[in-house]
Amino acid sequence: MSDFELIIVGGGLASARAIRAYREAGGEGTIALVSADSTIPYHRPPLSKRYLRGEAEQADTLVEPHAFYNGNGIELLLETEVASIDPGKHTITTRDGHDYRSRKLLLATGAVPRQLDVDGAELPGVFTLRSLSDSTAIREAAAETRDAVVVGSGFIGMEVAASLSELELDVTLVSRDVDLFSQLGSPEISERLVTLYGERGVDVLRGDEVRAFRGHSRLDTVELHSGPAVGAGLAVVGVGVQPAVSFLEGRGSSSTTGSSSTRGMRRTRPASTPPVTSRPSSIRSSAGGGASSTGRTPTTRAPRSGGSSPAPTAATTPSRPSSPNRSD
Ligand SMILES: Cc1cc2nc3c(=O)[nH]c(=O)nc-3n(C[C@H](O)[C@H](O)[C@H](O)COP(=O)(O)OP(=O)(O)OC[C@H]3O[C@@H](n4cnc5c(N)ncnc54)[C@H](O)[C@@H]3O)c2cc1C
Repeated sequence: MSDFELIIVGGGLASARAIRAYREAGGEGTIALVSADSTIPYHRPPLSKRYLRGEAEQADTLVEPHAFYNGNGIELLLETEVASIDPGKHTITTRDGHDYRSRKLLLATGAVPRQLDVDGAELPGVFTLRSLSDSTAIREAAAETRDAVVVGSGFIGMEVAASLSELELDVTLVSRDVDLFSQLGSPEISERLVTLYGERGVDVLRGDEVRAFRGHSRLDTVELHSGPAVGAGLAVVGVGVQPAVSFLEGRGSSSTTGSSSTRGMRRTRPASTPPVTSRPSSIRSSAGGGASSTGRTPTTRAPRSGGSSPAPTAATTPSRPSSPNRSD
């Protein structure tokens, strides 16, 4: 069994910052970074923005260069998922059966995306977005299709819809909530976003949910509760995250895909959100503005700008909500 002074479980921003802070504070001894990710820690904000649009590459996203880990004596255990810990013995056990011991243990495993518990959620072409490889896969899929459905109108959904729109895809944004960014509790901001996204050609469906993803070998249609089926070669589900901590319960995977730890659960809404008991009619917002109809009438999109004007990215949305560090 290998021994370390400090083991850090998780390979995200928190872990990279912790290594730097630990060393700067005089922390000595061997450090192991144990991460389910396949690459050294990177910034996730570009994954829904510049990296997704092909304006940045993997190297641009790194928190620290490779040399930082070599220089600080870090043993990198990548693609290594921790399955359980034993605080009494000061050990961790990885999914591939290896044990490691340390005097100190830092858990920084972040979160995994929630999945939609609907038919077809596992079809190729249906994505969640958390990792660099997720973003790469969405980017590649976007190059192969014209139509995309984005599910969820929180940060991830809004940003991905904006980026895919800027990539000239026909984007339908499906929001269970009538208000976009409903966490803000601001109908005024929501209406401004509806207008903005509509002007940029995004078809915004509010008060609606996905019934099923359909397709033979891969996604081609998204069925909605309100009735219409939307053609889509690509769908991105952004319906929140949950802490990646199931390994603490010693009961299986905390997979960074979220698929195994969440399978079988009702995953379409945060626990604190009451279920929708009487579903409002879907509100479809047409090009140029607010809610214009409740039916299945195809929406007239605003003409595309030919790529010259900016898409409704985070930078152009009014009143960015409470997360002050969001950038890029
Ligand atoms: C697409 C996207 C865009 C974002 N944009 C912004 C933004 O603009 N502004 C902003 O402030 N925030 C943004 N965020 C949120 C921000 O990225 C997170 O707050 C940040 O990633 C949290 O860092 P973390 O290190 O705590 O966790 P994470 O980044 O989630 O890292 C967790 C790490 O733990 C690993 N892990 C999990 N379970 C295990 C296990 N059992 N064994 C081993 N390793 C494990 C994972 O593989 C991962 O490496 C965005 C997030 C995403 C996904």
